[in-house]
Amino acid sequence: MIQIAQPFFGEEEEKAVCAVLRSGMLVNGPFTREFEERIACLVGRKYCIALSSGTAALHTALHAAGISSGSEVITSPFSFIATANAILFCNGKPIFVDIEQENYTIDYKLIESKITPQTKAIVTVDLFGQSCDYTEIEALAKKHNLLLITDSCQSLGAKQNSKCVGSFGELGVFSLYATKNITCGEGGLLVTDDEQIEKRAREFYNQGQEIGKKYSYTDLGLNYRMTEMQAAIALEQVKKIDWINKKRRANAELLSQLLSKIKNIHLPAEKDGNTHVFHQYTIRVNSQIRDTLVTYLQEKGIEASIFYPKPLHLYSHLKKIGYVKGDFPVAEKVSQEVISLPIHPLVSDNDIIYIATCIREFYEKM
Ligand SMILES: *Cc1c(COP(=O)(O)O)cnc(C)c1O
Repeated sequence: MIQIAQPFFGEEEEKAVCAVLRSGMLVNGPFTREFEERIACLVGRKYCIALSSGTAALHTALHAAGISSGSEVITSPFSFIATANAILFCNGKPIFVDIEQENYTIDYKLIESKITPQTKAIVTVDLFGQSCDYTEIEALAKKHNLLLITDSCQSLGAKQNSKCVGSFGELGVFSLYATKNITCGEGGLLVTDDEQIEKRAREFYNQGQEIGKKYSYTDLGLNYRMTEMQAAIALEQVKKIDWINKKRRANAELLSQLLSKIKNIHLPAEKDGNTHVFHQYTIRVNSQIRDTLVTYLQEKGIEASIFYPKPLHLYSHLKKIGYVKGDFPVAEKVSQEVISLPIHPLVSDNDIIYIATCIREFYEKM
């Protein structure tokens, strides 16, 4: 089976984990500090906090940004459920704004009409490895005095106009989950330049304990710390990120070249000024044949997958807010048409040729 995702580990990661186990220091040690510094430097931020998951990082970011009961938070309905759930856990109200069909990112032209006196923040999603339109979105956030938090869980290393995603707005969040471009099984990151936000986040992720003062709890908190084993693996992974993202881009380019010869397939686009890191390589096909094509490819040993089969506003706990079918026509349409194909670094040129051949054969048989 050509899997949709596969971690890319070597001896370096094995050695790093063993070093932690032998050291006896399993949390908050030198690997965690070095990893945090390295990410801050890579993304171009002053501060980085390593957490137990991307979801934990989102929750912590929203809490540190002051999202609370009554806060409206503008976000995309075409994302992983964690984006909306983190807003709900802070007692905020997700206010969805439809996406751009070409890039699957929030349509910045539709944001302003959704801003009310209750709006506190915008949570953008750099979906599939591509940056949102930050020139416009940062300007909008500034004009309306809103915090900008980016769910960049899928996009570590992606850029817009030479700036890394995660460096736009007040806060950026990444995930190191097993399927992400670099991974340590589970893991998350929060990055910011704001000293106050960093302080609130560091307290929240460690039981609300004041920094450097044991058993002094000044606020509600949780345990969202990353382990030293995770940090040691992630530190080795981040050393390989340029190579991994380059390989993904090269695989995507080859696949696009081969698929461009087939009619009726919509290929992924890279926006002007963007460096897409292809967490997912996502095509669109006619909704009538989409599921048949996915099954066909799976029978051929290709793990084609659907990200995401349903926009967030149509899940029951979000529908309750008052959303109905038809509210976000672009997100609803693309959720019926998308298919993601394997392009991770362990997918070979021959695999890519095989994937393209199978898709061509499927259309010839129709
Ligand atoms: C992976 C992901 C998350 C959640 O990250 P976890 O590490 O799985 O908790 C949130 N948002 C998006 C867009 C993601 O892709």
